[in-house]
Amino acid sequence: MADYRTALEGSSRYLCFKCQSMLTELWANRYKDHISLFTSVGLVLENSARCSLCRLAAHCLGLEKFEIPSAVLQNIDLPDATIALNFLLPPRIPHSSLMRPFSISFELAISSNSIYYNRHSPSYIKIRSDDLGRLGVSEDFGACPPTPTQTQIPLIKKWLTHCSEDHGPFCDTSSFPPSQSRPLMVIDLKDGCLTDLPPLTTRRYFALSYVWGQAATFQTLIGNVDGLRQRGGINAVRHLLPRTITDAMDLLTALNERYLWCDRLCIIQDDAENKHALIARMDEVYATAFAVILARSGPNAEAGLFAERHPWHTEERISDSLRLVAVPDPGREDEYDLAPLERRGWTFQEKLLARRKLNFSHGLATFECPQAKFSAAISSERPIPDVPLHSESGSVEKGPPLDGSRARAVRIMIALCANTRAEP
Ligand SMILES: [Zn+2]
Ligand SMILES: [Zn+2]
Repeated sequence: MADYRTALEGSSRYLCFKCQSMLTELWANRYKDHISLFTSVGLVLENSARCSLCRLAAHCLGLEKFEIPSAVLQNIDLPDATIALNFLLPPRIPHSSLMRPFSISFELAISSNSIYYNRHSPSYIKIRSDDLGRLGVSEDFGACPPTPTQTQIPLIKKWLTHCSEDHGPFCDTSSFPPSQSRPLMVIDLKDGCLTDLPPLTTRRYFALSYVWGQAATFQTLIGNVDGLRQRGGINAVRHLLPRTITDAMDLLTALNERYLWCDRLCIIQDDAENKHALIARMDEVYATAFAVILARSGPNAEAGLFAERHPWHTEERISDSLRLVAVPDPGREDEYDLAPLERRGWTFQEKLLARRKLNFSHGLATFECPQAKFSAAISSERPIPDVPLHSESGSVEKGPPLDGSRARAVRIMIALCANTRAEP
């Protein structure tokens, strides 16, 4: 890491005194594993007006909007509650140069006589990669600023190529026993129509998983399927399709992919026999897809994949040369009800069966396969190392109070995982 004095120059203009001293101490003492300071929720909220790290903590934990279960709020006096600001350094990681730019994660823990509640922020904090570059430090695994989803497409292409060419049998989708039943109907993006998926050896299709919502939208029926199977048949009804489906079609076209399966168009909705046969084959549909596109934002199929900026993908300046970016962790969104997709029971199956998952959450693309994880919010062409930053969270359970002297105690822990460069 660059000299901490240079990196933190001017930080008094952006940070409260406590955050400033914590960062200074952390930077200056790379081998220290734990730094704590005590304050209160009220003070963090008050400091949010002028301290960017307090603001990030309050934002990422939802303190401003009091996104805390009412059962917990009824039992505590939030503004007065005690907070411990804990900066924790993670255990040393072999080849830690890969993880050089640090990550911070926030944890909120609330305790009273009868209740114990804790939650981790669904995002973690990293230094912006271009700021690292300017300090003469590797930009690898720094954070990318929020960018429109369309600009993430070349990155997505790299992830898919990397997985299919370098990961071998671990990520292969062809291991699923081939079905003896009729071929799967898919959207052929090249010819703009519905078609039967070609035989196993050449098939490479993407399946779309999304929320239908209440709105009645165009669907394939016995009466229109013949027209949709004509060349250009789907293109002719494109203006009637919900945005999530047209976004997925545009994405795959941009990726030079040809086949897309989505339930609304690839199941003949009023053909009971066809429908039941396909529902029985759902596991095959998702397991043999080259990748499943998970549209994880919005209440219905109009939300699209290319949404506006993610609410947690936000950045704050902490010194003249450093900005911190909150990087959303899609793995944790389910706990925060930010992913309406999760409300559909059988979506669980889609997630479980998919070998490759291409997530679109509020405009941010991430990729997951059995071998790797990538995020458009992290600057790296290599997979993000799987470092456990959190313990279990989001649970409300009975337990002893955190502090005997204060029955109503709130604790925010800021776990600062400073993965410093590999020492010789
Ligand atoms: Zn602060
Ligand atoms: Zn893979």
